[in-house]
Formats: sequence, C-alpha cells, structure tokens
Amino acid sequence: MTARVLDGKARAARLTAGIAARVAERVRSGRAPPGLAVVLIGENPASQVYVRNKRRTTEAVGMRSFAFDLPAGTPQTELLALIDSINADPSVNGVLVQLPLPQHIDGELVTERIDPRKDVDGLHPYNIGRLVLKRPVLRPCTPYGCMVLLKETGADLAGKHAVIIGQSNIVGRPMALELLIERCTVTVCHSKTRDLPGLVRQADIVVAGVGKPNFVQGDWVKDGAFVIDVGINRDATGKLCGDVDFAAASERASWITPVPGGVGPMTIAMLLANTLQAAELQDSVA
Ligand code: NAP
Repeated sequence: MTARVLDGKARAARLTAGIAARVAERVRSGRAPPGLAVVLIGENPASQVYVRNKRRTTEAVGMRSFAFDLPAGTPQTELLALIDSINADPSVNGVLVQLPLPQHIDGELVTERIDPRKDVDGLHPYNIGRLVLKRPVLRPCTPYGCMVLLKETGADLAGKHAVIIGQSNIVGRPMALELLIERCTVTVCHSKTRDLPGLVRQADIVVAGVGKPNFVQGDWVKDGAFVIDVGINRDATGKLCGDVDFAAASERASWITPVPGGVGPMTIAMLLANTLQAAELQDSVA
C-alpha cells in the first residue's frame, strides 16, 4: 500500500481563508478585529521562527497581532504582571506565551495566570478540564489540528485503536482526550512503555509526538493505518523531519502526514480558529 498524504498545508490554507472571511465580516458589521498577543521570552531560534509565523498568519487573516518580546532574564513577576495587563485589555482576545520558557520561570504558573477565556493555546486547567469532560471550549491547538486532519480521511474514527507515542501536556495527553471523544480506543505510550513496536503494530491510528528524528520505523506500522506525525526535528544532515520514517511508513499506511507541511501548519490554523472563537465568546458575554 502507498499512503495518501494528509496535506496539512493545504487544509490549513482552507481553514485560514475561512477565518479571514469571518474576520472581514466581523469588521464589516462594526466589531473590532480579534486581537492575539504572542509573548516570546529569550532568543530560542526555533521559538523565534514559530512566533514569526504565528504573527505573520495572524495579520494575514486580518486580526491584530500584539508582539511582546522579552529578554531571557525577565523576572517571573514581570511576566505575570504583563499577563495580568493583557488579561485586562479588551482589544486582546487571545494570548499565548511561547514555550519552552527559561528555567527560572514556572510554566504551570504562567499558564494558570492566563484568563481561560483568552487561553487560545487551550492549555489552562479550565480548558483541559472541559476537554476531559467532553465539553471542550478552547482546545489545545496541535491535537485539535491532528483531529481535523484525521477527519479529512473521511473515515469513521469510532472504535479504532489509536496509539499515541508521547504523553506531554501539549501533545499526547490532550490528543488522547480528543480521540476518546471520537470514541477511539486509546493507548498512550511514553519512555517507560514496554514493547512499543508491538503496541504500534496494533494501531489503526498512530500519533507520534516524541521529538526523535525518524523514531517510528516503517515495519511498526500496520497495513492501512493512519499515521499522524507531530514531531519537528532535524536529522543528521540538518534537514527538517518528523518522528516517523516517512518513506518506510508510507509503504504500509493508508494515510500519513508529512513533515514539514503536516501538523505544523494546522497548529497555527487552529490557534487562529481559537482566537476567533475567543473573540466571539467574549462578545457574547460583553
Ligand atoms: P516532550 O514534552 O519532550 O514529550 C516527549 C514524549 O515522548 C514524552 O512523553 C516521552 O516520554 C516520550 N518519549 C521519549 N522517548 C521515548 C521513547 N524512547 N519511547 C516512547 N516514548 C518516548 O515533547 P513535546 O513537547 O510533546 O513534543 C514532541 C514533538 O512534537 C517534538 O518534536 C516537538 O517539536 C513536536 N511538536 C510539534 C508541534 C507542531 O505544531 N507540529 C507542536 C508541539 C510539539 P516520558 O513522558 O516518559 O518522558
């Protein structure tokens, strides 16, 4: 079998075009364009690229982008005070603080300080709790984007066995909750999992969020499986690659996401979808 490619770049472009149309409609009807604040602390080169893309796409759909670039040594109290002022600013509907944060800053504290109604990363305990209870409001962007791609297959996901590799708060755990909502049977694997290849071989859906280049081998993939590769890595030659050996896995999977051009662009599209949703929710309670 040769897998069909789940083209995240094209799907994200369709989504952002729809968001841009809704933003234009909002503005035509006299309401303010949604505003998204992106806070970057320090000079991590990968984070700088992600933040640049997020800000560029925000502006491209007609939203207002608020940029806060702080030096790596910014005290935690200063960052928390900035979040408080963003929370209180009605022109900002969504805020995200780019991860990872410098060591001296407590990421959990920062996430919890964000007003859950403006938590467009969907990582505040309130939004995670809503996802646990099958009543999501603002959903974590990367798993949300993975679900949109899985639905692109047109398949009924109910009853499928999904194996997730990785249990981080931003990828694996919320991904498990999303798949459960679709009534998949979910197995979450991590570094202590025994016989990972054996578990992946049972999977109708494989989601890899490990952070290791080409970690998932082609012969781990069951014939006809859907493979979602969340990883963004550099291989030994410095080339961008995912967590899955794409060429080998494509021989067996029925659908597969590429890296780049798969989950990455979807994450940004879902961030904008969340920002629009946050603005609409804030309108309705204003
Ligand atoms: P993370 O916090 O480092 O989590 C990695 C997970 O992989 C952990 O749960 C870890 O297990 C597990 N793991 C590590 N080695 C393993 C092994 N040998 N066997 C099985 N599991 C293993 O990483 P993350 O933040 O979730 O990110 C994962 C990848 O996704 C990275 O490449 C990141 O760049 C990428 N990413 C992409 C997007 C996107 O938009 N495309 C968004 C977010 C992240 P333990 O919990 O036991 O340590």
